[in-house]
Amino acid sequence: MSPQVKSKMVKKKTGKLKAKSTQKTAKGKKWVYLFDEVKAAEKYTGNWEGVRSLLGGKGSGLADMTRAGVPVPPGFTITTEACNWFRKTGNFPPGMWDQALAALKVTEKRAGKKFGDPKNPLLVSCRSGAKFSMPGMMNTILNIGLNDEVVEGLAKLSNNPRFAWDSYRRLIEMFGATVFNLDDEHFEHPMAEHKARKGYKSDTEMTAEDWRELVSVFKEVFKKQVGFDFPQDVYKQMEFATKAVFESWNGKRAIDYRRATGISDDLGTAVNIVTMVFGNMGDDSGTGVAFTRNPSTGDKLMMGEYLLNAQGEDVVAGIRNADPIEHLKEQMPKAYKEFMGITGKLEKHYKDMQDVEFTIERGKLWMLQTRNGKRTAKSTVKIAVDMAKEKLITKEDAVLRVTPENVDSLLHPQFDESAMKKAENDGAFFAKGVNASPGAAVGQVYFDADTTEKMTKEHKQDTIMVRPFTKPDDVHGMIASQGVLTSEGGATSHAAVVARQFGIPCVVGASSIKIDLENRQMTVGDVVVKEGEWISVDGNTGKVFLGKIPTSAPSLEEQTDLLTLLKWADEICARKDIRKVPNGWPTRGLQVWANADYPKDAQRARSYGAVGIGLCRTEHMFFEPERLPIVQRMILAGPGAERNQALDELLPYQRKDFDGLFEAMDGYPVIIRLIDPPLHEFMPDEEKLLEEVITMRVKGESDGLQAKEDLLTSIKGMHESNPMMGLRGVRLSISIPEIVEMQVRAIFEAAADCTLRKIKVKPEVMIPLTGTVKELEWIQPRLERIASAVMEEKKIKFEYKFGTMIEIPRAAVTAAEIAGHAEFFSFGTNDLTQMTYGYSRDDAERNFLITYQEQGILEKNPFQTIDRGGVGKLMQMAIVDGRKTRPNLEVGICGEHGGDPDSVEWCHMIGNNYVSCSPFRVPIARLAAAHSALKHAGSKIAEDK
Ligand code: PEP
Ligand code: MG
Repeated sequence: MSPQVKSKMVKKKTGKLKAKSTQKTAKGKKWVYLFDEVKAAEKYTGNWEGVRSLLGGKGSGLADMTRAGVPVPPGFTITTEACNWFRKTGNFPPGMWDQALAALKVTEKRAGKKFGDPKNPLLVSCRSGAKFSMPGMMNTILNIGLNDEVVEGLAKLSNNPRFAWDSYRRLIEMFGATVFNLDDEHFEHPMAEHKARKGYKSDTEMTAEDWRELVSVFKEVFKKQVGFDFPQDVYKQMEFATKAVFESWNGKRAIDYRRATGISDDLGTAVNIVTMVFGNMGDDSGTGVAFTRNPSTGDKLMMGEYLLNAQGEDVVAGIRNADPIEHLKEQMPKAYKEFMGITGKLEKHYKDMQDVEFTIERGKLWMLQTRNGKRTAKSTVKIAVDMAKEKLITKEDAVLRVTPENVDSLLHPQFDESAMKKAENDGAFFAKGVNASPGAAVGQVYFDADTTEKMTKEHKQDTIMVRPFTKPDDVHGMIASQGVLTSEGGATSHAAVVARQFGIPCVVGASSIKIDLENRQMTVGDVVVKEGEWISVDGNTGKVFLGKIPTSAPSLEEQTDLLTLLKWADEICARKDIRKVPNGWPTRGLQVWANADYPKDAQRARSYGAVGIGLCRTEHMFFEPERLPIVQRMILAGPGAERNQALDELLPYQRKDFDGLFEAMDGYPVIIRLIDPPLHEFMPDEEKLLEEVITMRVKGESDGLQAKEDLLTSIKGMHESNPMMGLRGVRLSISIPEIVEMQVRAIFEAAADCTLRKIKVKPEVMIPLTGTVKELEWIQPRLERIASAVMEEKKIKFEYKFGTMIEIPRAAVTAAEIAGHAEFFSFGTNDLTQMTYGYSRDDAERNFLITYQEQGILEKNPFQTIDRGGVGKLMQMAIVDGRKTRPNLEVGICGEHGGDPDSVEWCHMIGNNYVSCSPFRVPIARLAAAHSALKHAGSKIAEDK
């Protein structure tokens, strides 16, 4: 290496020299871009993303519109790079101001006006504009270029002295407030005084002379507060304004906004200097705002309003009643025609509904802004579907434009947003918990399931069931209610799971609520809600309000656009080879199945687009009032004739249940899980029973006492310290095989009967909570023998499968062995998460999960969204190992995560065949599955890593 080069390198390392050398290049650097110089910006930055970073959202939009031939008032953008230089050094970068003045000269020429010339003045606005929209968070100064002389000229030229003097006072006021941070108070006070003196009620009564007088007052205020005269040099005005906009990047409002939205502090803002155009130059002028399609319904009809002879802020402030945009057709046919042509072009250019601002100055139309318009979920779907039908976008684009949250909000009754805000302002907020099941519910509060059911059914009331937590024997109350509220439990608590399953809005774990079951009331601080009083529960936000908030309820069948969109989503998922996978793995996208226990849930699941039942929790059927006594008798009997007798009584019930499910699913697979919960869940509550026994003993009542005492002894015998890790799942089946033998017989008899009735069936028997293959080796052959026996008895054959849930980490780790027996895996991610983390699924949210999220220890609630790094990895390993043994192993998920979009994506990535979720979440999962398929199309599915 030559010594020369070496010394250069050393020098480069010193900060001072480096700054010097950059400064050298800074002078030659382009800091300012005219609106028609977008090509140069593209060349410099390499792509459109880069142009947006350099010129900001507003600047790049104005440049893009200029390129598309849209009439945009002439102007230029000073780059975000200049802002960042200014923020570091406190000065404009060398050469920047000269470039700005040169651009202003071109702007003057294009506008046919001259900056500071009283005879034909050019006025400009100085507008902030960062890469990402930060509405109202930074500064903007209008009417720059007015001074004592120019205002007279403008008054003459416009033939409207009132407008000229009003514009001038606005400039002084804005300059004081935004450039010199003066309190608005300094200007508002003299103005209020002036109006009071004249007896005016509103600004519209102010005359030209009034504004002229106020200008003098404002100038005095300015001098007193700032220490020098309001600058008459228009170039100085522009310089001050530019610096103020740069500085506003570091204003408190802007910093707070960036913190809240995650926008980086390093981006900086651009400054846009734009020729002012005026809609208040007479009756051939006007200003307005419009959406190219209806933002609330999505209808393909321009929706907007305008005011003749007015300024933009008059439309926004609603001082005068604006006219619907259609009236412009009669009032200014030429401008209207041009406007419709331009907005049509803009929609085609941006391929989306546009939200535009425009001004007509003496018959000439100017477009001031265009951006993709904000819209409701309903209109998001309609616009996406319509635009795909119009061939403006592809079906894939349409599917990607709608979020799973959009779909969610379309399917549940919603509270009216403004009503909810009002309730909050009126002090009706009561408590907040975990938003366990979406939708809005309004009803009268009842504190137990029986009363809730009674008040709903007999008294025809809308009810909310409130409990500390729920248990299986509360389900009838939950189903009867409009909504459920608990003070304990989390996203996978019983209340949450059941509520989602039945589409009941539900908030759980609202721990600030103290429920006093004895006095039939609940309290938060001093606020008391007594039984029978009205509350509103919002399952979307987890908020609970006192009193009634209005709701509206949509239905899927009526939402034809959503149905079309979901059909397209299914088509995308059905594409063969959309997943690049190892041999034998599913090459199509994910299917969506549903968790359903009863035929009516299965029917709903199908109408929502499910193509299988991924989980039927058979134990739910055991809780029905006429069956529970038989179940209890069966449990208490112990092995032998009496137990078998009880099981014989249960068999026809179960057969009927399954028959109904098969019929509803008509040939789609139906996974029936064998009994899972510990037996004590089916027995009366131990504490309550003990209380009864003690009371009877104290009162000396002997009738029935012995039976109660025996029952109590049996229940005590069933007690376990950790029942979720105790005698449940396959362990229970091995301890008392008679129960599952009855269940398998019922499944196969029902399947055979359906087949005889020409209904196609595909039963899949699922063994829960397997931890070692030896458990399957023990139980599965016994059950398979029953299946064969029934088919032989009925002289019929049909397709069926035996498989297992993977919900214990050991099962995932030993999946290769387990797949030797199981023909399918279904991830029970509720238990798998519980056991992988060692967090109790019933208590964790209430006790520490929320704190963990707040402290950043957990990014997301792992009971709602699969923890990809831990639980997810176990799933991935289980699939890879399982398919090494059985390449066509069917894999699904039936934990609560099956309806969560992020978890659906993970299931796609690791090669699941399907996800199964509550019927109400099926549409969301269908869309999420299509999103995943599109996002990962062509990329290889990760095997093991
Ligand atoms: C699970 O554990 O994910 C599951 C579906 O089973 P359950 O919630 O009934 O325990
Ligand atoms: Mg489970």
